Order: sequence, then structure tokens, then C-alpha cells
Amino acid sequence: MPATKSLFIVIVGCGRLGSYLANRLSRQGHHVVVVDAHPEAFDALSPDYSGFRVEGDASEFAVLSQANIDQADMVIVTTNNENINVMVGQVARKLLNVPRVVVRIEEPDRRATYEQLGLDTVCPASLVGDEILQSMVQHTMTTLRSGLGQ
Ligand code: AMP
Repeated sequence: MPATKSLFIVIVGCGRLGSYLANRLSRQGHHVVVVDAHPEAFDALSPDYSGFRVEGDASEFAVLSQANIDQADMVIVTTNNENINVMVGQVARKLLNVPRVVVRIEEPDRRATYEQLGLDTVCPASLVGDEILQSMVQHTMTTLRSGLGQ
């Protein structure tokens, strides 16, 4: 279903996470640009992906400019390199004043530091851990308890 107000979203890194987001956000009617250093990464975009693709190293400002990152409502940085993600995130947030910047991080202990820089962070390992704890461990405990009570 098209979004009521579509956003211009730049996604840096078109791997497993970036391509998933690009496909979903494009399908929702948002204007999406994906950036990746390796053109084969774009193979993960679905046939109905209607956004743009920019090939290049995101640590180069010219590549970010080509993606019109300065005009983005939101930038999501999902490469597999945390240093690149934070650097690109800071350029978008501090230098170009992009209103919302989300960066993928690997190390949950650094979250507070990055958030002080104005970056929202997502740590896949923490999300998976939370999912296992909240849903699966809880479910197993409930199942075992009800089994013991019979
Ligand atoms: P994944 O770990 O599957 O989410 O993939 C990460 C993606 O980030 C891959 O497609 C990489 O080619 C991409 N990537 C890594 N470093 C850079 C970079 N400096 N600039 C652009 N894309 C990058």
C-alpha cells in the first residue's frame, strides 16, 4: 500500500539488510536510493524495486553526493563496516543536516557514544538476542511450566 507521505530515503549498503529495507520501503511507496561498492549487490533488489542504484564506495563524498544524500529525509547506513557506517552517518547528520540517520553497528557497547553524536543505532546481534530472550525463552518457560503443572 502506498505511504500517505512518501519519504526520500538513502540506504547505504545493499547487502542482506540494506536490500531487505530497500525492497520493503520501495514497495511502501517511498523514494529510495541504494548505494553499494559492489554492483552485484543490486541483484538482491526485487524486480518491482522502483528506486535508484548508485555504485561506489560510500566513504567517498562524491558517491554520497551522487545519491543526493543531502536531500534525504532519512539515511540508513547498513554496510558491514561499522567505522564506515558511523563516518557516513556523521556526514549525513552533522554536515548535511539529514533529519534522521540510522546506522548499523556491531558492538552494542558503543551505542551510547554514537547516540551522543545524533545517530540512531541498530545492532542486529542485540535485536536477535532480544527476540530469543523475549519470545522464545519466555515461550519455553511457559510451555515447561504448564507441562509440569499437569
Ligand atoms: P551485508 O553484510 O550482507 O548486509 O552486506 C553489506 C554490504 O555493504 C555489502 O553489499 C557490501 O558491498 C557493502 N559495503 C561494504 N563497505 C561498503 C562501502 N565502503 N561502500 C559501499 N558499500 C559497502
